[in-house]
Amino acid sequence: MRPMAPRALSLLVSLLEATQGRIVEDLLDITDRDAFQRLCDAGALVVADDVPVILCPACGDQDVAPRRIGGVLQGLCPECGYVPITNASLKAWMADPAWLLGRLRMAFGISSRQDSEELVAGTMWKVGDYTVGRRSRRIVFARRLADQSTHDAFRRALAAKIERDNAVIIGTTSRSVAMVSDLSMPFVHLAEIIHLRSGKLELDEERWAWCLKPAHLRRHDASPIFFENFRIAVVDGYEYQFSALQAGVLACLHAATSGKSFKDTIMVEVNSAQKNPVELFRHNARQFAGFNRLVEYDDYGYYWLKRR
Ligand SMILES: [Zn+2]
Repeated sequence: MRPMAPRALSLLVSLLEATQGRIVEDLLDITDRDAFQRLCDAGALVVADDVPVILCPACGDQDVAPRRIGGVLQGLCPECGYVPITNASLKAWMADPAWLLGRLRMAFGISSRQDSEELVAGTMWKVGDYTVGRRSRRIVFARRLADQSTHDAFRRALAAKIERDNAVIIGTTSRSVAMVSDLSMPFVHLAEIIHLRSGKLELDEERWAWCLKPAHLRRHDASPIFFENFRIAVVDGYEYQFSALQAGVLACLHAATSGKSFKDTIMVEVNSAQKNPVELFRHNARQFAGFNRLVEYDDYGYYWLKRR
C-alpha cells in the first residue's frame, strides 16, 4: 500500500509519458489541484511554452486560440464571441526530466559527482551507475515506449550503449503496451519503483530487490496478466484499470497459494470496511466486468483467481 502522494505520482507519470504532457492550472480538476501543488512545491514542474489553444473561459466547451487584440488578451469563441482571457490560463507546466533524474540519482544513492547522460533526446537517459561491491548496473530511464519511432530509437540506444543484462530500465509506459517482454533485463514502472514523499523520491526496496534478481527468478513471479502492482490487468487484450484498494484485493488473491481466500480475511488484509470484495468493484461497470473476468467466488464467501 502507498500511503503518500499516489495522486501526485500518477500525475507526474502522466505528464512525463504524454507527448504534449502539459498542465494549465486554471483547467485542473479540483481533485488534481493538490497533486499539482505538491509537484510544484517539489520543483518537479517547469513552465512550458504558451498554450496555443485553451478552453473558452465563458462556456468551458469550445477551444479558442488566445490572441492579443488592441492590447487585450482575448479569444474568439464560436458560441460566446470575443471573450477575455487571463494570463494564468495561458501558463502551462510540464514535468522536468532533469528534476526526475536528479531525484532518481539521490534515491539510488548515486554519487553527486555522477551526472545523467541523455541517450535519446528527450525520451531516454542513463540515470547513473548503481554499484554494489564489484557489480555495477546501469539505471536507465525511458518514456513513451508505446510510440513506435521512440521505441525504435530506444532499442538502438540500448544495443549501442548499454551492455546486455547489465541494466535496469525504469519507464513511465505501462508494461502492457511498452513492447519490452522480450528484454532480459528488468523493466519496472516508475510508479512501482519509487514513492514520492515530501518532495523526495524514495526507492521501493522490495521492488528494487526484485530488479536485482537473476532473470529466471524474476520471470518466476512475474504475472502475464497483472501489471503495475495489480492496478492494471490485461485479459484477452482488454485492459482494466483498478483503484489501489481493488488492486489490493487482486494482489491478495494472487498471493493466496493455497487457492481460495475467505472474504473477511481479504477485507482485513486490504483494510476495507466493506463486507466483501464484490462491494469494492460493483459500483463501476468496467471495473466490475474486469473483476468478473478475473475472479470467481462461491456462496460461502470464498474468492479465487480464475487465472494467474
Ligand atoms: Zn465559449
